[in-house]
Amino acid sequence: MSRRFDAAVVGAGPAGSALAAGLARRGASVLLLEANAHPRPKACAEYASPRIVEELERMGLAPDAWRPAAVPLRGMDLYAGGHRVRMSSADRLGPRSAWGLDRRCFDARLAEHAAACGAILEERARVVGLVGGDDLVRGVRVRRADGKEEAVRAEVVVGADGARSTVARLLRVDAPVRAPRRLGLVAHYERVDDLEDHGEMHAARGWYVGLAPVPGALNVGMALPLDRARPAEARFSAAIAALPAVAERLGASRRIGPIRGAAPIGHRVRQVAGSGWLLIGDAAGFVDPFTGEGIHRALRGARAAADAILADGDVAAAYRRERRRAFAAKEALSWLVQGVLSAPGLLGHAVARLESRPSAAGRLGSALADCRPASDAFSPRAVWEVLGP
Ligand SMILES: Cc1cc2nc3c(=O)[nH]c(=O)nc-3n(C[C@H](O)[C@H](O)[C@H](O)COP(=O)(O)OP(=O)(O)OC[C@H]3O[C@@H](n4cnc5c(N)ncnc54)[C@H](O)[C@@H]3O)c2cc1C
Repeated sequence: MSRRFDAAVVGAGPAGSALAAGLARRGASVLLLEANAHPRPKACAEYASPRIVEELERMGLAPDAWRPAAVPLRGMDLYAGGHRVRMSSADRLGPRSAWGLDRRCFDARLAEHAAACGAILEERARVVGLVGGDDLVRGVRVRRADGKEEAVRAEVVVGADGARSTVARLLRVDAPVRAPRRLGLVAHYERVDDLEDHGEMHAARGWYVGLAPVPGALNVGMALPLDRARPAEARFSAAIAALPAVAERLGASRRIGPIRGAAPIGHRVRQVAGSGWLLIGDAAGFVDPFTGEGIHRALRGARAAADAILADGDVAAAYRRERRRAFAAKEALSWLVQGVLSAPGLLGHAVARLESRPSAAGRLGSALADCRPASDAFSPRAVWEVLGP
């Protein structure tokens, strides 16, 4: 007899753990399957939106549990074309801190919380197949570290298995990443004086390097044109050397961890839901970390999925609807920013305009951080303030 659950969640990153916690807290039986074992590394620039606070609170994770994995940041200084602007965020109640995270620790806390809420967390358990067909998914096939396989039945299978999602591939809904095609590289450095309470983003011609303080380290992350011919280490050093302000920042520092990467950054899917299945987090699509919203988006998407699964009716339709409501305007804004980022002259111009218009910078920073509606950054006046002559 195979085991049966209300939900089988594939992947215990932020999306999968948040969903498993959200479902289990509301009485559902949940199996959370993770191919690795926490704490596991994750290639990430580790700069998270202020709004993760509300999502973590909603899933019942006490600040004491996740704050040791985070440092508060006042915002991000964006450098381009010889100009600099502080991108910070505020909502109706006032200024909001972004967060520099230790992803190994943060993700482990979320997975522990899902288990404490009642989800069955199984690590070193890789999903290698689906039970049922594309027309109706009924469960997953799991391979354990000892090579043994098990078929597990579930009312709904949720792919939360990241930007290289096996579930999306098995469902044949994944699509090629055509643009932007970038190589993501990250590494931890020793902390740097004067860079304790904010991050920096240094943009060059269609690529960028970000610096973000995280607990006990400085995260150095970059998104570079995709070129698989040169080794990651050489590309990492060359990018730092090409940006004198970054080279100077890191002059007295030292790399204290391995360089991790993702190529290409991003993931595209044709559908996010169907009969018996949903995709959440990066598995449901991810563009680029420039606007820094992957982690918040993973948590927010998990909430949308939990609400759809627990409501009566068509789960896939309810989930698609809720995602559109939560993400459509922000996605349009992120694509607009990607367009500007790919046109170096335009980015320098926009940063110069924002430098002399702090209120416009605040509005855009807050919209990108989900602290005010993304549509606020689209009004004709807002666009004029950033891109006008
Ligand atoms: C270079 C880079 C920099 C980034 N920087 C930022 C940033 O600064 N801020 C930000 O908010 N976002 C950033 N992101 C994006 C962010 O990391 C993701 O959006 C976030 O991790 C998504 O969470 P997730 O739970 O969907 O996926 P993941 O965190 O990738 O978790 C997926 C989990 O699924 C597991 N898994 C995979 N396959 C299987 C399988 N077959 N069976 C079982 N388990 C499986 C994996 O082991 C993993 O634990 C960055 C991404 C990259 C590539």
